[in-house]
Amino acid sequence: MDDPSHLVNEHTIKQALKSNEFRLYYQPKVDLTTGKITGAEALIRWEHPEYGLMPPGQFIPEAESSGLIIPIGDWVLKTACYQVREWREKGLFPIIMSVNLSVRQFYQPDLIDRVRDILEETGIDPGCLEMEITESMMMDIDVANEVLRELKAMGVQISLDDFGKGYSSLHYLKNLPIDKIKIDQSFIQNCTQDNNDATLVKTMIVMAHQLNFEVVAEGVEQKGHVAFLQRNLCNEAQGFLFSKPVPAQEFVRKMHIVDRVIEEHGLPSNVTY
Ligand code: C2E
Ligand code: MG
Ligand code: MG
Ligand code: MG
Repeated sequence: MDDPSHLVNEHTIKQALKSNEFRLYYQPKVDLTTGKITGAEALIRWEHPEYGLMPPGQFIPEAESSGLIIPIGDWVLKTACYQVREWREKGLFPIIMSVNLSVRQFYQPDLIDRVRDILEETGIDPGCLEMEITESMMMDIDVANEVLRELKAMGVQISLDDFGKGYSSLHYLKNLPIDKIKIDQSFIQNCTQDNNDATLVKTMIVMAHQLNFEVVAEGVEQKGHVAFLQRNLCNEAQGFLFSKPVPAQEFVRKMHIVDRVIEEHGLPSNVTY
């Protein structure tokens, strides 16, 4: 496929916002002890009129540097919260919706007010909303701490994304008011073949649990990963094995497929403690 980078600039992103070309796709998170879907991560795509569906890696950096990530992030938050409300109204899923924050969004002085407004507007339980942050956003640890504490005071959950990929992770674990860590997919990929990866994943799970954090594994693509993670008491998993990110309507349909995968694994009866 052609490189779409020439299509992505401040002007085209602004235009895309106006023309409503952004979409949210949803990827399920599965509880590894009950086999139930407990959450969804909202992941943005740009449905470009010429290029088709563009992944976030191709336009989020430009949106971040131009500042357009602020209105985009606002749209993401609002759309995700309205989706929670729609599913709740239909009695479909009592799930936790995760939304990825960007650096600029995180340090935006009115972030807390925006989140509060959107929660009020949509009327969803703040406990149904989870913010995914990364270590790379923690450059000002004092401000970060303050923002996270205010989010938590509102009842919003905090998850540390891509855990292990950056550096100083342990420092952040010690100091930040987070609820969950998401082990980066690069560790999961080879955890059943590579002893070092296996050791690192096991150790991250034990450490997180000792610190009272829940653990989510990202990038779960194989049945072997599920067995390994279950054996090591990882709480939740997310990955192509269960479902790739899909539009809302498909998310609802996909749930049956996810259920079937879970049945194949024999969850939860396979769990051995
Ligand atoms: P992330 O938050 O770490 O999201 C996980 C990424 O891994 C997603 O890529 C997802 O499609 C992909 N993934 C999920 N399961 C598997 C798997 O089993 N195998 C493999 N190889 N990949 C898997 P995606 O959707 O391209 O998003 C990339 C990144 O873009 C996200 O990483 C996040 O940092 C950022 N992003 C996505 N949506 C938003 C958004 O609304 N706002 C902001 N600020 N950033 C976003
Ligand atoms: Mg994420
Ligand atoms: Mg991640
Ligand atoms: Mg990431």
